[in-house]
Amino acid sequence: MDLNNIWNSFLNNIKSKINDIAYDTWFSETKLINLNENIATVLVPYHIHKKSLSENYNDIIEEVFTEITGSNFKFNYVVEEEIENNITQSTEIIGVPNNNEPFETNLDSRYTFKNFIIGPSNKFAATSALAVAEQPGKMYNPLFIYGSSGLGKTHLMQAIGNYIVKNSNKKVLYIPCDTFINDFIDIYRDPSSNNIEAIKKFKNKYRDIDVLMIDDIHSLVRANSAQQEFFNTFNDLYNNEKQIIISSDRSPDDIKKLEERLKTRFNWGLQVNILPPDFKLRMEILDNKIANSELTEVVPYDVKEYIASNCVGDVRRLEGSITRVFAYATMMNGSEITLEIAKEALKDDYSKASLSQNKMDQVIQIVCDYYNVKEEVFLSKNRSNEVAIPRMIAMYICRTYLDENLTKIGIKFGGKNHTTVMHAVNKIKKAILEDDKLNTEIQKMINQIR
Ligand code: ADP
Ligand code: MG
Repeated sequence: MDLNNIWNSFLNNIKSKINDIAYDTWFSETKLINLNENIATVLVPYHIHKKSLSENYNDIIEEVFTEITGSNFKFNYVVEEEIENNITQSTEIIGVPNNNEPFETNLDSRYTFKNFIIGPSNKFAATSALAVAEQPGKMYNPLFIYGSSGLGKTHLMQAIGNYIVKNSNKKVLYIPCDTFINDFIDIYRDPSSNNIEAIKKFKNKYRDIDVLMIDDIHSLVRANSAQQEFFNTFNDLYNNEKQIIISSDRSPDDIKKLEERLKTRFNWGLQVNILPPDFKLRMEILDNKIANSELTEVVPYDVKEYIASNCVGDVRRLEGSITRVFAYATMMNGSEITLEIAKEALKDDYSKASLSQNKMDQVIQIVCDYYNVKEEVFLSKNRSNEVAIPRMIAMYICRTYLDENLTKIGIKFGGKNHTTVMHAVNKIKKAILEDDKLNTEIQKMINQIR
């Protein structure tokens, strides 16, 4: 048997033994690339796979592989760029569920890994999330998930919680950061109350648990005392190997006024970024949403395409749009869903957005004309100065004169992330101060837009 055949039988066998999500995440993209003496070398997509496969799945992998090959192999996992490295392994048994005492988790059972649709923009985040869910407190602590609003941070976080609750007897607590702050402030609000009792209750709630999930941690900076308390809570949980999962709309380094010592701690674990979905993922999310709705109507491709092309940077808005179209069609006496109906249903929502889209298009056109750069080249990854500088200027104009947000500009300019846009804007801001000629040029372009 050649390597591919061996691996295919192995995968088929494994697939029947573990759940679909674990299979898709950890095994579906692996490949056996070498069998030597008693070492099997397997190529995996990310480093995180090496850790998960060797720590969580080693026993089952060795067992199934022995069954297929008739001899014992040790496994060595490699990612593309380090095909020669050897990895040491350890085995660990996954926690077995038993009957839970009832415990307030605040989890919403609708958010699962199963209905979280994966694409290039969220794949790493979803993979890391599953790794943490399978081995809370052991794989990555804390796990810090960040990205703009509406991209699935809360969903992913809750999926981890739901997974852990289902597969273990661990105590999980999901808390929006604001609730944490309010709980803390409440202790001292009522002077007549018994502080000691209140503090005890607070500590019980936040420390007598195995997994703490704090959503939207960027809010923490609004209350200094709560920040102190969070630091203490963090240390206590961390030192006891309890899993901490945090979400935020930006990376720890970008949260101004967050204490340095907290930033340092957030850097101890793993930070994962969720980016805006590409067109294909937007279509898949829509399909999924439609499939899970009670709607029996067929939604034509052009309707989905229309929605997916208009909602670029936000899954929440994508979902809102399809819900609105359903509601509108029902209201029109259950009429068939057509592109006309969809446009009618969404016209208010989309007109404002398309106005700003058009304005950004206009900026690009004017800047391209001014510097004589072709638009395709302008929006490509070309980094030569003749293209890169006009591109930065256009981003600067969109930011300062159209007041567009960084994420939207990034998407418009060929899928750049918001920090890239921010750097470009700052660079031009600085350059203008030192370069009168550049300043005049930019003013001329802005006058054209006006
Ligand atoms: P955030 O917390 O980042 O603001 P949410 O997690 O609340 O975003 O997501 C907004 C909505 O979009 C939720 O209804 C969520 O279920 C949905 N959503 C986001 N990403 C995905 C995805 N990849 N697959 C399916 N649904 C998603
Ligand atoms: Mg959220």
